[in-house]
Amino acid sequence: LKLQVLTNEPLSRHTTWRLGGPADLLARPRSREELDYCLSFARRKGLPLHILGNGSNLLVLDGGVRGLVVQTREWRQVIIEGRKIMATAGTLLPGLLQVASKKGLGGLEFAAGIPATVGGAVVMNAGTPAGCLGDRVVGVEVLDYDGRRHILENGEIIFTYRHSSLHRAGTVVTVTLELVPDEVPAIRERIEANLHRRRSRQPLEWPNAGSVFKNPPGYYAGRLIEAVGAKGWRVGGAEVAEKHANFIINRGQATAADVMELIDRVREAVARQLGIDLELEIEVWG
Ligand code: FAD
Repeated sequence: LKLQVLTNEPLSRHTTWRLGGPADLLARPRSREELDYCLSFARRKGLPLHILGNGSNLLVLDGGVRGLVVQTREWRQVIIEGRKIMATAGTLLPGLLQVASKKGLGGLEFAAGIPATVGGAVVMNAGTPAGCLGDRVVGVEVLDYDGRRHILENGEIIFTYRHSSLHRAGTVVTVTLELVPDEVPAIRERIEANLHRRRSRQPLEWPNAGSVFKNPPGYYAGRLIEAVGAKGWRVGGAEVAEKHANFIINRGQATAADVMELIDRVREAVARQLGIDLELEIEVWG
């Protein structure tokens, strides 16, 4: 094995927010064998295990995380059979969309512009009002902490809004999706339209982690945050984006503490002025 393992590795290098403290150990498996090795190593040493996809939904605290972080995105593989597509967890969604659309397979266009790995996207049931990953999942291969392999079919997994029963249930190794045959240009057009919509609405020029809060039933979190006047609020290098109030952007030297403080202020204002409790969509590590 030529497994790459980094010690005391700043996770700011591996999250889209570009902030957060170090992992004691960060392993970057490139194959099934290397992934198996990482998981059994954590087990043998009794290390806390954290699975990192593309780090696009994570706020890693400034003290970092203890134990072993396994980053999946170095092992990317896609196999297409008819309308079924099997991808390793570390495959990036944008790449998967490209491969699928080239083959005339649609049904994932809603995910255009979500900078996730397939594993992270299925665990979080990533999506938009137009669809979510869970809608396309046929089966998921999972390794539990004891190294046992489970193949879960869609009906055995609970997918809800930005959550699934896979969360912390083990390591997602591969995901099989069933897509919808369509004309290549039609698929490409929908992808382009979605990318264009995102670019015009989201502050993608700054490091961010997508939506910070979940939309409470019947509301858009961004509108609520705007309504309390929080757009443009700033703590250190963290700022509530003017372009989209549910995004917090890193204007340069933001720390996780800055982001946390800003989150608390926004939450408090929305609760006090509107009587609504905002729930985090992002996940906090550390
Ligand atoms: P990470 O952030 O690395 O991890 C998220 C969680 O998944 C963690 O608990 C992690 O342990 C777990 N995990 C990751 N991989 C595995 C695995 N193989 N096995 C087990 N657990 C695993 N989200 C949406 O839903 N819709 C959007 O439209 C959207 N737009 C976004 C736009 C931008 C610009 C950004 C930065 C983010 C956006 N997001 C969106 C948020 C984010 O992309 C999703 O939540 C995505 O699912 C996270 O995937 P990831 O691979 O980055 O996971």
